[in-house]
Amino acid sequence: MDLDFLESMVGEAVEESPYRGIWVVAEKEGEALAPVVLEMLGKARQLSDSLGVYVKAVFLGESTEELRQELVSNGADVVYVTDDPRLSAYNTEIYSKVLGDLIEEGKPEIVLLGATSTGRDLAPRLAQRLGTALFTNCLNLEIDEMQRQLLATYPVYGGEYFQTSVCPKARPQMATVLPGAFRPPLADPSRTGEVETIAVEINDLEVRSKVLKVVSEEARPEVPLDKAKMVVSGGRGMGDAESFALVEELAEVLGGQVGGSRGAVDEGWIDEEKRVGLGGTQIAPDLYVACGIAGAIQHYAGILDSKFVVAINRDPNATIFQVADVGIVGDVHEVLPALIKELKETV
Ligand SMILES: Cc1cc2nc3c(=O)[nH]c(=O)nc-3n(C[C@H](O)[C@H](O)[C@H](O)COP(=O)(O)OP(=O)(O)OC[C@H]3O[C@@H](n4cnc5c(N)ncnc54)[C@H](O)[C@@H]3O)c2cc1C
Repeated sequence: MDLDFLESMVGEAVEESPYRGIWVVAEKEGEALAPVVLEMLGKARQLSDSLGVYVKAVFLGESTEELRQELVSNGADVVYVTDDPRLSAYNTEIYSKVLGDLIEEGKPEIVLLGATSTGRDLAPRLAQRLGTALFTNCLNLEIDEMQRQLLATYPVYGGEYFQTSVCPKARPQMATVLPGAFRPPLADPSRTGEVETIAVEINDLEVRSKVLKVVSEEARPEVPLDKAKMVVSGGRGMGDAESFALVEELAEVLGGQVGGSRGAVDEGWIDEEKRVGLGGTQIAPDLYVACGIAGAIQHYAGILDSKFVVAINRDPNATIFQVADVGIVGDVHEVLPALIKELKETV
């Protein structure tokens, strides 16, 4: 916002803050950028338009030309990279030191990190180092243009409520963003931006831990849940692991992915990585089928962006029916085999 205009509104001289711009901390998932990075860039662009500032991405690992361009294509005006091999694997101490120094020098007013295992580890350290506040697991971010304040909305009380907070005094304003909270932007490969290689100063004595081995997860679903067009999820109502196979069969017939509620994860029928919901993956499929799932708020928070929801539950008062486009009151052990048979005959 124009300072003169702001002064005329406030009626007194306004001191211009040295903090300007929005930074997104980028990270990879496997060989590609983590989807949440693109989602944050899209949101950062919207916020930067309100503030009239640049969006900058910081990537500390080993970067390629494609990766740098992808950050630019998705909204970064500037990309900071390093070419220091000591940063190729994530290390809390090194990353918080390098990023902390960079942020102190560059003075962004907002810093966003993904609520990934790396982001959840790094962000609190960084906030503590910078002497600022951190809003975690944000599901929405808005701007109060008058005050140049970030309005961060995140779940509280186990997801029963949402709270919106501001950080009025300390800068930068920091937030971690839940994967799937925002839609990724439409990439524009013709977009141009600057790439700056930053010098890294690390005193080896400051680093007390080192990464010995990186163990990658094996059983990743072929299509990540947050990208799947169809997701069939099972809950505790499936009864046992044998019956849960019906969920997998329906997903296969539909050509979709298998997910589940925390109930199913707790029962050991599916892996944690397939959990749909607030503490799992936030999904946005064209079709979501919930089988034997109650529809707790924490589960619902993960399916808000689904285009069409079908729920199967034997309890006609199950909460899931309140958010379903089509509700089938019945026993999953009867409804699912019938549905699978019908689909196999017609598809
Ligand atoms: C901080 C926090 C984070 C959480 N994050 C998540 C999350 O990410 N994802 C998530 O899912 N949950 C999450 N939860 C847990 C959530 O509150 C619920 O406890 C969980 O979603 C319940 O799973 P469920 O619906 O499978 O099981 P239940 O609550 O046990 O419901 C089972 C349902 O199946 C129906 N049913 C039973 N038998 C049959 C049958 N034969 N045929 C048809 N229907 C049947 C029942 O009527 C019932 O509605 C979280 C909780 C907290 C506190």
